[in-house]
Amino acid sequence: MVKSIRVKTAVSRTKIPVADFTVNPYIGCSIGCKYCFARFIGPFKSHGSEWGKDIFVKENIAECLRKGIDRFPRGVFFVSTVCDAYQHVEKQTMLTRRILEILVSRGFPIFMMTKSSLITRDIDLLQQAKELRVMISITTDRDDVIKALEPGGTGFAERLNTLKTLRDAGIDAGVFVGPVLPMNQQFVAEKIAELTNHVTLDPLNYPWQVKGIFRERGWHYWLTRESFLEVKTVFKKVIPTCTTTHD
Ligand code: SF4
Repeated sequence: MVKSIRVKTAVSRTKIPVADFTVNPYIGCSIGCKYCFARFIGPFKSHGSEWGKDIFVKENIAECLRKGIDRFPRGVFFVSTVCDAYQHVEKQTMLTRRILEILVSRGFPIFMMTKSSLITRDIDLLQQAKELRVMISITTDRDDVIKALEPGGTGFAERLNTLKTLRDAGIDAGVFVGPVLPMNQQFVAEKIAELTNHVTLDPLNYPWQVKGIFRERGWHYWLTRESFLEVKTVFKKVIPTCTTTHD
């Protein structure tokens, strides 16, 4: 179900270390990651809807942002935190593009993270941003893992290709390996290293959400702290500049 809603405010303040403000064009996310915190934290939990299927489109968010933007002090805008700004419906609504147009025209620093290749549609705008940080989320190279845990997500090759397209366009995009999922870690690290050395690792922060899926498939080891530390060691050898969210 995709439903349009109207909002009174476009921006929230945040204590996330990388940003000062957040803008979320949607409630819900059609990528539908089974481990996602946004299904139980944030506005989605109060809508009684099905995660990954039900999306609420904030149809007037760009107008709202445009009206209020001059009230905000200079600070980093994270687009977006509780949904993927380039999830499927964005192709039609173009809300993220309209939000970017406003932020870029005012010169606000922007932080973005996505799993979708649709971000390449907005390269022209991203190239005009005064300060920009883009992370492509790459969590595994395995199709079976993506199918089980990120059912609406693109495959490993497409995410690498998105990263390459952005970087070829002069955008200093990095990779967020989070959460670390079952993967061929040496292979993933080497493929990413061919494109960027801006890499951050993040463990599976809410394992209780996916324990059942992991156990059914024999992925028990990937629920342990040791698995994350092993991936970290491999990545650090291949990409010495790699950091973790807990560094
Ligand atoms: S893409 Fe991001 S916001 Fe969307 S379901 Fe996955 S983790 Fe959550």
